[in-house]
Amino acid sequence: MNYTILDCYTDEPAGLGVPPYLGVYPRYIAGRLNEKEVNYITIDDLRKFKLNEKKEINRKTNIRIYNTTNKDISRILKKTDELIVVLGVHTPGKYLSAIPGTLREISALIKDISCRKVLTGPAVFGTQSMGGRFFERTDLSFFDEIRDYNFDFSDLRAKQGAYIIKQIPDLRIIEIETGRGCSRLKGCSFCLEPVKHKGAVFRRTGFIIDEIKEFYKLGARYFRLGKQSCFFSYPWIKELLEGIWKNCPDIEVLHIDNANPSFVTEDKTKLIVKYCTEGNVAAFGAESFDRAVIKANNLNATPESVYKAVKLINKHGSKSGKNGMPAFLPGINLLFGLKDESKNTHKENMHWLKKILDEDLLLRRINIRQVNIYPETDLFDTCKNKFIKKNKKHYWKWRNEVRQEIDNPMLKKLVPVGRVLKKVRMEIYDGNTTFGRQVGTYTLIVGIKKRIELNKFYDIKITGHMLRSVTGEIIN
Ligand code: SF4
Repeated sequence: MNYTILDCYTDEPAGLGVPPYLGVYPRYIAGRLNEKEVNYITIDDLRKFKLNEKKEINRKTNIRIYNTTNKDISRILKKTDELIVVLGVHTPGKYLSAIPGTLREISALIKDISCRKVLTGPAVFGTQSMGGRFFERTDLSFFDEIRDYNFDFSDLRAKQGAYIIKQIPDLRIIEIETGRGCSRLKGCSFCLEPVKHKGAVFRRTGFIIDEIKEFYKLGARYFRLGKQSCFFSYPWIKELLEGIWKNCPDIEVLHIDNANPSFVTEDKTKLIVKYCTEGNVAAFGAESFDRAVIKANNLNATPESVYKAVKLINKHGSKSGKNGMPAFLPGINLLFGLKDESKNTHKENMHWLKKILDEDLLLRRINIRQVNIYPETDLFDTCKNKFIKKNKKHYWKWRNEVRQEIDNPMLKKLVPVGRVLKKVRMEIYDGNTTFGRQVGTYTLIVGIKKRIELNKFYDIKITGHMLRSVTGEIIN
């Protein structure tokens, strides 16, 4: 049998698989198959092959075809017996150099390919690439099967699937899974994690280290322990982090993602600062600082617990590391469109964010998006898009106020003019400007006002601040 894994990229609350990240799904699937029979290709390959798209449009990098594997796609598709499509976005965002595939798009691109077609990944539970919408409804009858792989931790074969990194010609950050599900019995109103997994389970330290070792052997040096709902809930943090370094001493980036503020403790924070590399971020799914919204949606944190966790992480992590970024900072996610949202929600959000800013505490970033509505969630069952429809007219203003009054002054404190960011990798052109970022989690976007060679690393001195990004000049 010849298998082709088509990576259309994945983004979930607990786990990222959009380049430069390599998500777990293609790897776990590859681990179950014989390496000699597997081809890994991307949605970018298919777009380029089928639509003949150009690398630049009006001097702007075409990020729809940025992440190609440089393979002979025509030959691969002719040989393919089974095409396994990995797709699914639950937490849509804007990505600097990639665009995930949608069901509608994939349907047009693969319908006429004659082989068995399987859909898998988060899309099995619904997918939507635009915020504030219901899941995408498309005719899926051209798929022969919609497969929810049972990737049980006892039979994950994660290490065995690491070989697909050999088929990717570009740099990748390897997203590593440490646990799944949520430790809260009844989850947040909008979240699919409790739908996907009942209760919280954690992956044994030895299996995780074995997987990282395998990638390391194959040359990978960038890792994020990002596929879990809360890294602070992982029961063996010290053993895991110590074990990774003991076995892979030349790792360049080791970051985490996702934290429930209620689980943040001083000891665990110190361990993360000690063992992870600088520029690290714990993203808090605070979602709202409005108590009415918190209650109605059964959210995981109170404003006080978020504030306390922000303070604690700042205490140990806010000092700048050798790459120019603070060692470890919190990030905050806010969601628009939750149950009982009102004008007061924005007031409360601004109140707590201003308090954080005024007390000189740092946030690496504030992520704001509109909630999506997926089947089997409480939001879907009880109120659907009622509050999105009611409040949509305010969203631009609310978001803009956070950007102007919080993000921008925060960014100036975080990385003042003159600060040098080391090893910034240039990724795309937009006219005469080149944009890049360091390799890691939630890295800051840096714009240089000239066209410089892409895929190269530069040391950059910061010269100015935009709302959420910076401008700079090359010093090295
Ligand atoms: S705390 Fe809420 S958002 Fe986080 S995984 Fe649990 S249910 Fe989902």
